[in-house]
Amino acid sequence: MKKRKHKYIFVVGGVMSGIGKGISAASIGRILKSKGFTVNQVKVDPYLNVDAGNMNPTEHGEVFVMDSGLETDQDMGNYERFLDESASDRDYLTSGMIYYDVINRERSMGYKGKCVEALPDIIDEIYKRFIDAERNDRSDITVVEIGGTIGDYQNIMFIEAARILKIKRPKDVVFVLVSYLPQPSTIGEQKTRPTRIACQTLNSYGVQTDFIIVRSERPFDDKRAKKLAISCNVSEENIISAPNIESIYDVPINFEKGRLGHKLIKTFGIRSKKTDLTCWKEFVKKTKNGKNQLKIAVVGKYFDTGDFMLSDAYISVIEAVKFSSYWQDAKTELTWINSKEYENGKRKVSELKNYNGIIVPGGFGESGIEGVIMVIKYARENKIPFLGLCYGMQLMTIEFARNVIGLKNANTVEIDPDTTHPVIDIMPEQKKLLAENKYGATMRLGAYPAILKEGTGAFEAYLSVRALAKEDKENKNLISERHRHRYEVNPEYIEEMEKAGLIFSATSPDGRLMEIAELPKSKHPFFLGTQFHPEFQARPLHPHPLFNAFIEACLKKK
Ligand code: GLN
Repeated sequence: MKKRKHKYIFVVGGVMSGIGKGISAASIGRILKSKGFTVNQVKVDPYLNVDAGNMNPTEHGEVFVMDSGLETDQDMGNYERFLDESASDRDYLTSGMIYYDVINRERSMGYKGKCVEALPDIIDEIYKRFIDAERNDRSDITVVEIGGTIGDYQNIMFIEAARILKIKRPKDVVFVLVSYLPQPSTIGEQKTRPTRIACQTLNSYGVQTDFIIVRSERPFDDKRAKKLAISCNVSEENIISAPNIESIYDVPINFEKGRLGHKLIKTFGIRSKKTDLTCWKEFVKKTKNGKNQLKIAVVGKYFDTGDFMLSDAYISVIEAVKFSSYWQDAKTELTWINSKEYENGKRKVSELKNYNGIIVPGGFGESGIEGVIMVIKYARENKIPFLGLCYGMQLMTIEFARNVIGLKNANTVEIDPDTTHPVIDIMPEQKKLLAENKYGATMRLGAYPAILKEGTGAFEAYLSVRALAKEDKENKNLISERHRHRYEVNPEYIEEMEKAGLIFSATSPDGRLMEIAELPKSKHPFFLGTQFHPEFQARPLHPHPLFNAFIEACLKKK
């Protein structure tokens, strides 16, 4: 059979940022997948950082890590969650990355002495990245989200590359503008003008949008739809209403009410299966039930910039908790606690008895660390289900060394390089990188295999999910999880810690690196920490086994 030509959907934003362009793109991906297409989702971040790794999470939000180890924007996390697939690192691009590649090529005579310029060389590089999935036969349809808003200076080159693709392949490229209808309280009606200006600006770049997804507080009326159609040059049926809804996971279902999937495919002039969102709807139904209420405390730093950003900094953790809760008919309320408040006496750790579970997520540096260790001690001694993620696992090990074994000064060399008991230490190769100030993309990053120890809590947790998925019994001890850290459990202390009752229930295949630490069920209902970040692989349709086990323990405790 002749292969159908690859198709492209470019999602651009109008009026202002923060209106859900990423979720719109992710929802389009989910819909197309449920119509039987294979989809890859590309995110374009116009900033000059080569990756998101060195960015401050309180300013930029979570750094999402891919299998390959590439550190990306949190939108890639949304794509993976909506598509229920791991994305390729070829699908994430920043202006910095594009320039970096072009400049490196120039430095190694890749342009054979020619003058290298933004136009055409940068545009060509972007273009190549846009069509990467087609060239490598990775999907049927590429959905590209161009970061920023129309009119921004930084994203023009990406729009230009998309325009060129449209000129070359008019039947294979569709533009979707995600826009916003403000409704000022003094006027009381939705205003279309900002969207019309966004369309005009896009026109001035030589691009006519095919669809407009209209974000607003309430659905728009006929009058507004007609006005937008005429002034934006878009057929009325391609103007899709996207009013505020309860949850981001409702968005694909809501788009399908406007038959967006069908209309996109029709624009390409191809046929497809009917949209089948059965599994997705089953999940969404679960999000509305949640008859068991859980209260979980998340303790750490990065919480001191106000409610808005803190949830962005740990978005994958939040979603992972939600997925595992929903599938167990629970709804979990997360309370964010700044650990410094335990240090300065503003809060008492004994308040934690009011929670069904405690999470200590990943982090860096010394601020608030003694407070976190107080919390871990309380969770261990009072048998409150505890999940430590990366730094959370390292601090759990330090707490154990200090308070169970009695190594009073036990610490991580990240905080105290001269500690007499470096239970968390730096690997020699990492030490060299830091001495040379090489911070960019130099941590232990991305997916690494680990071997589970049979009979442990972690093993049971993974096995229950695999048994459901009927996975290969041969590999029942093998897992693959994503990492982002520099420091490790010091092998010199392992024997002593194991003797004292801590179990290292997963290690790297060579046994050198400790991947999971836990207390046995006989000692604690759930006390487990992971050196990796399980949250990066938690998906709505496939919640993560360790989060499942943690939520199960919280429910039991309740
Ligand atoms: N700061 C710790 C390290 O670098 C933990 C990192 C994290 O939690 N992601 O190893």
